[in-house]
Amino acid sequence: MPAPNPLNPPLAEGIRRLGFRKWYERELLSSHAHMALAVLAAVALLASFEAFDGASREEKMLNTVFVVVSAAVTLWSLQRYTYLLMHAEELANQANCPRCQAYGQLRLSERPARTESTDGNAQRLVPVCCKRCGFEWDLDDG
Ligand SMILES: [Zn+2]
Repeated sequence: MPAPNPLNPPLAEGIRRLGFRKWYERELLSSHAHMALAVLAAVALLASFEAFDGASREEKMLNTVFVVVSAAVTLWSLQRYTYLLMHAEELANQANCPRCQAYGQLRLSERPARTESTDGNAQRLVPVCCKRCGFEWDLDDG
């Protein structure tokens, strides 16, 4: 799993600073920006392949560098796109209050955050509280 981007605050900090809905919206915008970058880098990759025709030796060397760089950017941005999208969706699926079913109406709870380990997989549990009815539960942040 890739590390969180410094531009995307971790869940607890994002809820505290922005609220859950804004945090979720920013995660989706960020993931789709990475998708757009992946498309542009893929076009650059294809254009670099096109430029091989009739190129001199030095130009072919330079084109090889362009191919490697644009392929790396394409793969990295696709990985970020899927990570950010799946992470946001995973948390959105837990954002309904179990008691009153209010969606995204949550704030950080006063309870301390916990890390639970089951089968060797560490789970970061972010304690939240429903703004409407006060019910408390944990969001599993991977
Ligand atoms: Zn509630």
